[in-house]
Amino acid sequence: MKVDNEKKPVLGIDLGTTYSAISRWTEKGPKVYQNPRREYSWASVVYFDDRQEKPLVGNLALKRAIIDPENAVIGVKRMMDDANQTIRLGNKEFSPIEISSLILRDVYEYAEKTTPGFDPAGVVVTVPYYFTAVQNSNTADAAKMAGLNVLGIIQEPVAAALAYGVHEEENLSDEIIMVFDLGGGTFDLTIFRFTNNQDKITFEVLATGGDDRLGGLDFDKKLSELIEKKANLNLDGQSEVDLLKAKSALMEAAKEAKEILSFEDSTEVIKPNILPGQHIEIEIEREEFEACIDHYFVKMDTIMDNVIEKACLSRSDINRVIKVGGSSRIPKIDELLSQKVGGNKTFGNIDPDLCVAQGASIYAAFLDERIDWAKEIEIKTATAHALGVGLADGRVSVLIPANRQTPCKETRTFTTDTDNCEELDIDLYQGASKFIKNNKKIGTIHVPGLVKRPAGELDIKITFQISQQQSVSVTVIQEESHIRKVETVKLT
Ligand code: ADP
Ligand code: MG
Repeated sequence: MKVDNEKKPVLGIDLGTTYSAISRWTEKGPKVYQNPRREYSWASVVYFDDRQEKPLVGNLALKRAIIDPENAVIGVKRMMDDANQTIRLGNKEFSPIEISSLILRDVYEYAEKTTPGFDPAGVVVTVPYYFTAVQNSNTADAAKMAGLNVLGIIQEPVAAALAYGVHEEENLSDEIIMVFDLGGGTFDLTIFRFTNNQDKITFEVLATGGDDRLGGLDFDKKLSELIEKKANLNLDGQSEVDLLKAKSALMEAAKEAKEILSFEDSTEVIKPNILPGQHIEIEIEREEFEACIDHYFVKMDTIMDNVIEKACLSRSDINRVIKVGGSSRIPKIDELLSQKVGGNKTFGNIDPDLCVAQGASIYAAFLDERIDWAKEIEIKTATAHALGVGLADGRVSVLIPANRQTPCKETRTFTTDTDNCEELDIDLYQGASKFIKNNKKIGTIHVPGLVKRPAGELDIKITFQISQQQSVSVTVIQEESHIRKVETVKLT
């Protein structure tokens, strides 16, 4: 077993839609790195214009983004499904992978600066549960592009559960856990069954749901409208530049006030010269803020009901709730959760915006054998689409059905349909139909060099395997011809 080493640590990075964080595993528990402004998380924003040599990343980029949104990218995580998109900032073009790698590199460099001779053994980067294999591998590619040694990736709700040490609790052997993640841009709900057996711990996802347009930014927007109204600002006749600046200052003021209102019953909002000669000087009560985001609470309530139903559970079956995401600090969330699943079940004592990074560093320690668990961690998810092989008669032979628990592996033996066939093209399909024409072709494996045999006398073994990271690999074996081909398939 390797030991903790400050110079050669293992790291976890939470690459968030709006904010990112980086943590190191230590024997005493995870430690989150601070940036020079003593902040633990920073904006996942990149800004570039022609005046600069290098792109700006983080909280300064966010400030620029508000003044000059054309040259900034916020929420690149939402673009990770298509690596070929181009994002134009200033006179340069970037891909989503490049933008993500800039964020990862920036986050990493803060950690690097804290320790002379820093040379990490590797990192684990987190991804949302619903990310497909393509999004996962694009995220891993971004980390590699940032020069990081990627030990693995892990789903955010699982990382959060590891941060809460569910794997270490002796008495916890079979529990239904709901991860309630309310961040800056998205609301993600995951219900899984956690089991702890002698040789492995398993996270089996039972149901998920959420809203990818519901989070802190929406709350900021609503509160900024309320502030504008209460301050009685006169927007008539203002220049476009002044209005844009005022809007950005209002959003900033709203975010600040919102965060304070999680701890105080009321707060002052004071902003001199928000517009030429106009000031903001008002007081906001927590109740007023809560009232203006009430419809979002109704939405979250409905989503929870749906996901609990999808998991074939009743509310009382949920044994614990883990709060994740900065916005889960809003006190009313506790009310919402205790009304839903009962009191005393909610865990939120670890910083909700940091626990995903912390859990990732624990998983990194596990992968790098720094933690002596002698247990396997298994994350069971389900496939979204059926996968199979195209047959000569126009049908698809399905190897992996939809909704199949993953990781999984399935082998089937096929044969040639013509005499003395020397090469084959094996077409791979994804989709619900029995027929090739209604499904999506996801790849072809070319198999040359077959020994000549009559039709039906050459066995071709095809194996589909889906890993924990949701990557799909297909293996073709033809023994007499000494052929063994393995190809990775990208699903979209
Ligand atoms: P991400 O969604 O990118 O993973 P986080 O989990 O870090 O991001 O959540 C960021 C959001 O949390 C921001 O909108 C921020 O304003 C909000 N937030 C942080 N602290 C508080 C707080 N004390 N009260 C309410 N919202 C908060
Ligand atoms: Mg998050």
